[in-house]
Formats: sequence, C-alpha cells, structure tokens
Amino acid sequence: MSDHRIIADYHTHTKFSHGQGSPRDNVLAAIDRGLDEIAVTEHGPGHMTYGVRGKMLSLLNSDLLYLKREFAGRIDVLNGLELNVVDFGKADVPSDRDAYDIIIIGYHKGVPPKNPFARGIWRESLLGIKNDPHKSAESLLAAAEECRANIISHPNLYVKVDIPYLADCCRELGIMLEVNSSHVSLTDDEIRAIKGAGCRLVINSDAHSPERVGDFSLAAEAVTRADAWDAVKNAVKIDS
Ligand SMILES: [Zn+2]
Ligand SMILES: [Zn+2]
Repeated sequence: MSDHRIIADYHTHTKFSHGQGSPRDNVLAAIDRGLDEIAVTEHGPGHMTYGVRGKMLSLLNSDLLYLKREFAGRIDVLNGLELNVVDFGKADVPSDRDAYDIIIIGYHKGVPPKNPFARGIWRESLLGIKNDPHKSAESLLAAAEECRANIISHPNLYVKVDIPYLADCCRELGIMLEVNSSHVSLTDDEIRAIKGAGCRLVINSDAHSPERVGDFSLAAEAVTRADAWDAVKNAVKIDS
C-alpha cells in the first residue's frame, strides 16, 4: 500500500446528529487505531435534520472539553463542527466560532437556501442538472472565508465545483481540501491537480460510527493512485 501513516482524523460524527457512538466512543476508537489527534465535527446548526444546535450543542461542547482533559497526554481531542453552505457565500457560522479548534464546511443536502441564485444551484444539483461549477466554487469559498474554515469537506459531493479554481484559492487562504474516505468525491486527476496547485490535502474518515473512526482505506488508495502523499497534511512518512 503506502509507506505513510495517517496520524489524525479531523472529521467524525456521533449520535448527537445521525451517527451511532458517543464522542467518548470516537476518542477510544481513535486511541485503538493509534491516532495522535481526533476531532468530533458534528453537523452545524443550519442543517435541517442533522444540525446540532442550542442546548445539544452546548452539551456536546462540554463533553468534548471534559474528554480533552481526561485524555490529555494520550490523544489530542479537538472540538469542531462541519458547517453548511446555507445561502450563496454564506455559512451557518456559530457566534462563538473561536471556541472551536477546527471548522469544516461543505455543501450538504437538507439545507434549503433562501437566496434565488443559491436555490438555483440546489435545485440543479438535486435534479442532476449541470450547474455552474465556477459559481458554486465561488459560493463555497466565500462561505469558507466567512467561517474561517480549516477544511472543505468532500468537494464535488452533492454540488460540482471547479476544482482547479477551488484549489488555487484554498492554497491562498490556507484551507485544506478533503479526500473523504466515506465518499471519495474527487477523481485521481483532481487529487493530482490539487497537489499541483500547491494546495494541502487532508484525509478523513467522516465516520458515523466508532468502528469507522480512522478508516482511511478508500481515500488512501486514491491518494496512492494520484501519487499525492506529500500534499497530505495529516500523514507522515514511515521510515523503512
Ligand atoms: Zn459532509
Ligand atoms: Zn461529515
């Protein structure tokens, strides 16, 4: 396979949204898999069905604060969110953005946009009609800037975006593009193009159960085919 080890999983879900385990289960699974860092990144409040908000979000954050202390020295626990593009160029960014260690953003279903242009993108993507990938990338980038995102999740899933343009801007903005191991949404050529643009990649599981935390197999295979390991932020080379 590859001579790289992935040291962190920055994208996992729990039963706070539609996942199966608790934040603690995800942390224990990450320790089992030998990871150095684990983030819990629940769906942001703008997602109609899965969004974590209000009291549940406060409870999740206090759980993570507790786990951070409990597991200090064994694994770094990061509290994050996976936000949504809720309108053209707009994210469901929480007012306490700085309280989070890591912010992911991506296009999702279940987020009906209010703005007519954004609604157009949405309808087109749901109906499988070709949208304008450049405009969709602009919307995603503006939303990512608004929430000061660290990672864009599963680019091209649900809504097609102009990958070379996205990669070029993300390099400038210091935002990583995800190779998602639950939905490998990028082609090998696109992964190669992202690396070529000098943009960083990140491999995440997007686990919705503790058993899948740290399962990077499909993404790792894609990165190997694209010969892009040196662009992957959360991988280290193993000396052989
Ligand atoms: Zn997602
Ligand atoms: Zn996710």
